[in-house]
Amino acid sequence: MIELKQIYKSFGDNKVLTGIDLNVARGEVVAILGPSGSGKTTLLRCINYLEKPDSGHITLGDFTLDYKKHGKKDIHALRQKSAMVFQQYNLFRHKTALQNVMEGLVAVRKVPKDEARARSAALLEKVGLGNKLDSYPSELSGGQQQRVGIARALAMNPEVILFDEPTSALDPELVGEVLAVIRQIAKEGITMIIVTHEMGFAQEVANHVVFMDGGVIVEEGEPTQLFRYPKEERTKQFLKRIT
Ligand code: ADP
Repeated sequence: MIELKQIYKSFGDNKVLTGIDLNVARGEVVAILGPSGSGKTTLLRCINYLEKPDSGHITLGDFTLDYKKHGKKDIHALRQKSAMVFQQYNLFRHKTALQNVMEGLVAVRKVPKDEARARSAALLEKVGLGNKLDSYPSELSGGQQQRVGIARALAMNPEVILFDEPTSALDPELVGEVLAVIRQIAKEGITMIIVTHEMGFAQEVANHVVFMDGGVIVEEGEPTQLFRYPKEERTKQFLKRIT
């Protein structure tokens, strides 16, 4: 369902992505692992055009975009198909949990307010925040704020949800509640790409694991295979360091 072809991205002289090819099937949960600075977040951000690659193609569902030549409308079309869950939640501070989830539906998707409110309340209920609809981010824990972020992504009904290290800003005791919600939505067959340092979680939830280093995909495969029997020396070294 998602096909990335020959994605290149530099920041000045820093070649961050050098020819990434990646295929993701519908309903698949893909975990992207790798050392800090290997280009994981940049790759994720290219998928919904928060970063513009220097070259390459993306196909998402029935839509293909050439990063080198496209119009503004194409960017909009691409963005409609994915939703991002950020490391730092990125909630509007002056909006309640409910208003944060409703915002994209009303402002971008032009869903009538009553319908947007009902859908958003149901999604907050689903992530365990049915009693926090009217709370502001400052009144919520990090784990609760991230669950609002997940409800907001779900509200857009995207073809794929992109998670950028969704638990790395959280205190350890709050990681579990967020992973539980991600685990639950993974079971519903939503396509997801997750950049994560949570190896146990990646092994448990992902159908496919991608190991990146130095702007390339070094190795990818089924989780048990990759974690137990990595083929490449760089993967072996990385797994040794973190486990
Ligand atoms: P990872 O997610 O694997 O830690 P990133 O994709 O965040 O890696 O970063 C890869 C490299 O790109 C790093 O060297 C980082 O400093 C650089 N980088 C990322 N975003 C920017 C940016 N907006 N401007 C300049 N350099 C950036």
